[in-house]
Amino acid sequence: MAKLSIRHFLLELIFPEFCLNCQKLGPSLCANCYHGLNFYFQGQKPNIVEENKEQVYFDQLQIMAQFRGPLQKLIKALKYQNAKNIAPLLAKMLHRHLKIPSADMLTFIPLHPKKLRWRGYNQCQEIALTLGEISKIPVQNLLIKTINNQAQAQIKEQKTRKERMKGVFAIPTQNLPIIKNKHILILDDVLTTGATINEASRLLKLAGARRVDVIVLASKMD
Ligand SMILES: [Zn+2]
Repeated sequence: MAKLSIRHFLLELIFPEFCLNCQKLGPSLCANCYHGLNFYFQGQKPNIVEENKEQVYFDQLQIMAQFRGPLQKLIKALKYQNAKNIAPLLAKMLHRHLKIPSADMLTFIPLHPKKLRWRGYNQCQEIALTLGEISKIPVQNLLIKTINNQAQAQIKEQKTRKERMKGVFAIPTQNLPIIKNKHILILDDVLTTGATINEASRLLKLAGARRVDVIVLASKMD
């Protein structure tokens, strides 16, 4: 076996080309499983603005689908199984199913540097890079995560979660001039209570952003 084919063989082991949901050979999500996704349609989205008792800082929120079934598997593979190659597929799905606002720039929810080192990449940044390319919106890394609140996913109680979000993000001083008066689009992968996107939006508005819109891949809310 030639060197190249061994390399190709190994690459296929790391990034197997089969449906992550049903293991059928082909794309990371086969057509059948794609149809099994619970997409939100207009008027059917969870109304986070009404449920959130706190002030809401973003202007518009679009959520693509429910965090369950094939989409849940794809996001988990991207986050925990090193399946970085899924990011472009998810970006194309966002572009297809949402109305991407013509913002001045696209940013994403950052990871704490420790978590970034451990995972090797920020899954939201990976999705944003492809989405920015196909939507022709420049991608900017505007926020940093200063507190590593790792147990966040386990926090079910909304109030605790909201309190824990305060002060977890910051905006580096050099980013302030590019934010002022701009229309910014934030990308996040999974929405639990909305505390994360609201805190990120609050900071961007505080820094002078004219408008902040949010797009999220999947929601845990029904
Ligand atoms: Zn499938």
